[in-house]
Amino acid sequence: MSITVVGSVALDTVETPSGKNIEGLGGAAVYFSLAAANFCPVHLVGIIGDDFPERHVRLLESKQINTDGLERAPGKTFRWTGRYHDDINERDTLDTQLNVFADFHPKLPQAAREAAFLFLGNIHPSLQREVLEQSRRRFAGVDTMNLWINTTPDDLQDVLKRVDAIFVNDSEARMLSGVHDLRQAADLIRAMGPGIVVIKKGEHGCLLFGQEADQVFAIPALPLESVADPTGAGDSFAGGFMGYLATCESVDFDALKRAVVYGSVLASFTCEAFGPDRLIEVDADQIAQRYAAFKALTSF
Ligand code: AMP
Repeated sequence: MSITVVGSVALDTVETPSGKNIEGLGGAAVYFSLAAANFCPVHLVGIIGDDFPERHVRLLESKQINTDGLERAPGKTFRWTGRYHDDINERDTLDTQLNVFADFHPKLPQAAREAAFLFLGNIHPSLQREVLEQSRRRFAGVDTMNLWINTTPDDLQDVLKRVDAIFVNDSEARMLSGVHDLRQAADLIRAMGPGIVVIKKGEHGCLLFGQEADQVFAIPALPLESVADPTGAGDSFAGGFMGYLATCESVDFDALKRAVVYGSVLASFTCEAFGPDRLIEVDADQIAQRYAAFKALTSF
């Protein structure tokens, strides 16, 4: 089965305690696609300007990522600049230039409409709704952020009613639900629509809440020797999670638990190098080895 992802395609400038990368390949949809493509074909829907290096498009196409839905518009590509603190869990966004992304209205090519799995990256919920209206998916996942939770709550609620899974970090889960306790927060979010709630907690791992009230699963993040750049870890997590699910016969709780581990595996690779560099080189053997490392880390 294939997956369609809609979201940002960017040129990122990132500074971390280990270095700086200027205008490198980035964007939520790029990280998601590179991670998911390890499992199944991906349709990438996004927008780039006429300054976007063609070599990035060729790279994506070489990885079973279909770019027919990647619109080219006159103007500059979306740019994001971030700086991480010595505590790599903290970062400041220094600059966001929407450029061609400001007027983006996703148009899904036929094959992207037919994909069984759909991931709505972190874009305005009214655009996420436009995508839902075009898609004939069986399973949809959504990402969002504090900005949309605060400024467009009605649009967001409308989207949540129509998706199967949501990926949020702990502060977003608290803001969206209005409660501090994460278990209660997950119950309240489930009542908004998505039966599956994944709450990411950065270096502390993540919590999975399944469709049934008693289905809860937790795993740590793999302790890495060094984190070069965590940008895109959340999107890589979602890509690994949904990519793996797309290979499963059914989306039951056991499949969801394995999907959380695959998501964590892909996120851990992303953190090891700047931008998507490590994610680009990862292969099936390395993914399998790290999956086994997670098993060893968490069994007793
Ligand atoms: P993450 O580290 O998972 O939050 O993802 C970071 C990626 O999201 C970077 O590659 C950015 O280009 C992209 N990004 C940052 N801000 C936005 C935004 N407002 N809308 C869409 N994508 C964004």
